[in-house]
Amino acid sequence: MSFTKVKGTYDVLPAESPKWQALENYIRNLYGLYQYKEIRTPMMEYSQVIHRESEDSDMVTKETYNFKDKSDRDLTLRPEGTAGVIRSYVENKIYATSNLSKFYYIGPNFRYERPQKGRFRQFMQFGIEALGSTDASVDAEVITLAYETISKLGLKNAVVKINSLGDQASKSNYREALKAYLAPLKHKLSPDSQLRLEKNPLRILDSKDPVDQELLLNAPMPLEHLTEESMKHYQMLVELLSSLHIPYELDKKLVRGLDYYSHTVFEIHATIDGFGAQNALGGGGRYHELVKEMGGPEIPGIGFAFGMERLLNALEAEGITLSQEQRLDAYLINFGNETKKEAFKSLYELRNSCIHAEMDFSNKNFKTQLKDAIKLNAKYVIIFGDDELKLGQVTVKNTETQEQSTIAIKELVAYMKGFLS
Ligand code: AMP
Repeated sequence: MSFTKVKGTYDVLPAESPKWQALENYIRNLYGLYQYKEIRTPMMEYSQVIHRESEDSDMVTKETYNFKDKSDRDLTLRPEGTAGVIRSYVENKIYATSNLSKFYYIGPNFRYERPQKGRFRQFMQFGIEALGSTDASVDAEVITLAYETISKLGLKNAVVKINSLGDQASKSNYREALKAYLAPLKHKLSPDSQLRLEKNPLRILDSKDPVDQELLLNAPMPLEHLTEESMKHYQMLVELLSSLHIPYELDKKLVRGLDYYSHTVFEIHATIDGFGAQNALGGGGRYHELVKEMGGPEIPGIGFAFGMERLLNALEAEGITLSQEQRLDAYLINFGNETKKEAFKSLYELRNSCIHAEMDFSNKNFKTQLKDAIKLNAKYVIIFGDDELKLGQVTVKNTETQEQSTIAIKELVAYMKGFLS
């Protein structure tokens, strides 16, 4: 019997984890700068949080991990971040303490999809939610932050694709117009789109089927059916984005996969070698019904999410390195017995003074320990020899210049601090 990881999952091995840590630190710093605060919600929720009546995207209806716990409760592993954040926002009545709440999150999500390059069953997302305002300046801040996330990393030609679906009235105007346009063409649509025509015609715009796409060439578009109010909101948003020189493009067919969006929807694209022309690294939109649907007051929100695996792949493809190798200031070489005990004590003291140090624990010979130190990129080796120890001394050697000096053990920490400061 062999033990393997679950299909569609992956291990982050120690050699890979520095870049994950670096990306997470980058997110925390950038989102902190924009005054977003971290929220951490559970990976599992009661199924009704995810499987809401209004939500019939494939992600929710076909791709979730659902199970019963031992008390026969229906639970679902979260497939995305927003639903859990809204559940927590309502349950903790956060709306009562602040009229604009700004959250960011980083964590794993689960979708039962066909695993392929950049597509996993457990994957990491980070994202934000801003709750409490319908103002277009909030949309502009959120989109700016999404754009900055990508462009500050150094990815080329980052661009924001935006569209507006408008308010409920705009959406229902448009739904009727699209249905009327597609009804005579129904028999030509893909089977999936035929099903959507009645229930959720907007999602037909998302279809990857080339015949569907051709039929849509002359179809009415959401932007043409915005109410005056919704149009004003959209115009204010693009004016604000222009004032910051955020490169955006109108994508008239953009609707995004989830059903809860209204007004602004957007995606962030970048040109990445080997990724194909159209690559969304992340996306999001405005939602006005979700808080109410979860039992809260009528409070609007807007958010986005990025997939971390895809982003790390993109950085790699572009030769962008996020992290330095893990730092090692000193490697302590010992010869067993007393020298090992003394090295062990010094290791603790060095670390207490924030000096990144390591030692050999397994009684290897001198040459092998030296090799290990070089392999680990240690800046210094500190040799705890029997003879020196009798004099209360050690040898400190710079691995690059080969310079070495003998110093008293009780001076070691101060001496090393002097070197490394
Ligand atoms: P979505 O929530 O579907 O809009 O996805 C937002 C981002 O999450 C996408 O742009 C991808 O980068 C990432 N993503 C979604 N599904 C997966 C998956 N199964 N595996 C890896 N990344 C994913």
